[in-house]
Amino acid sequence: MRIFDPHIHMTSRTTDDYAAMRAAGVRAVVEPSFWLGQPRTSPASFYDYFDSLLGWEPFRASQYGIAHHCTLALNPKEANDPRCVPVLDELPRYLLKDKVVAVGEIGYDSMTPAEDTALAAQLQLAAEYGLPALVHTPHRDKAAGLTRTLDVLRESGLPPERVALDHLNETTVGAAADSGCWLGFSIYPDTKMDEQRMVRLLRLHGTERVLVNSAADWGRSDPLKTRAVGEAMADAGFSEDDIDQVLWRNPVAFYGQSGRLDLTLGADEEQREPGGLHEGNSILRGGE
Ligand SMILES: [Zn+2]
Repeated sequence: MRIFDPHIHMTSRTTDDYAAMRAAGVRAVVEPSFWLGQPRTSPASFYDYFDSLLGWEPFRASQYGIAHHCTLALNPKEANDPRCVPVLDELPRYLLKDKVVAVGEIGYDSMTPAEDTALAAQLQLAAEYGLPALVHTPHRDKAAGLTRTLDVLRESGLPPERVALDHLNETTVGAAADSGCWLGFSIYPDTKMDEQRMVRLLRLHGTERVLVNSAADWGRSDPLKTRAVGEAMADAGFSEDDIDQVLWRNPVAFYGQSGRLDLTLGADEEQREPGGLHEGNSILRGGE
């Protein structure tokens, strides 16, 4: 089973996770920039974070034979903090980088006017730079949040096939599917979707345009949930081809629209021993 996790925050995970993911079949990941759990106090702290998503993190992933790309954006929560908003002025020069395969995660958190402005501006950037957009749907008030998101998307002029709506569930999948956007599902250990609910949704809606991710981060989450969905699909009678479509070909097709996906690393059959340096530093912390 070859797996592409289209939404995972590896910065918050250990190298043990990379090793376990590789052993489970994960060959490629996309890491969206997001909220750290505490407020950033200046745009400069975004730039260091973006640089690590473009440098150190792909290096760490490469040590385990996993191709790493990222999506960059001002996240919805921090769009409300005037100390952070100037990051929007610098975002364009980051969107030119080879490893950036979408603008994201963008979307709504509390549906404030500041979030409206940041969402519209970043959809515009996606259109200008020829990139897809990863749009998260709010954790609270999901249905209303999705309706408003779809309104803004229609006004943006970004074609629906360039947009993935993420964190969907049974209540939002219908409207999201009607919009023509890609459908993202985050599989968590105890909230949102689990693998059995995911299988039921795949039976109802089919495997077209569906993206399944672990969205693993610093909270309770599991970077092997993509594999768990593949196994649950097999148990439920889905074919190997169906599983490959959901866990590999769909994310390749979605992020491939950027023209920047390079999956050669994950194609290595042999798992190499970790080694080598990134800007003089190794994952073994120098001296060891
Ligand atoms: Zn996320």
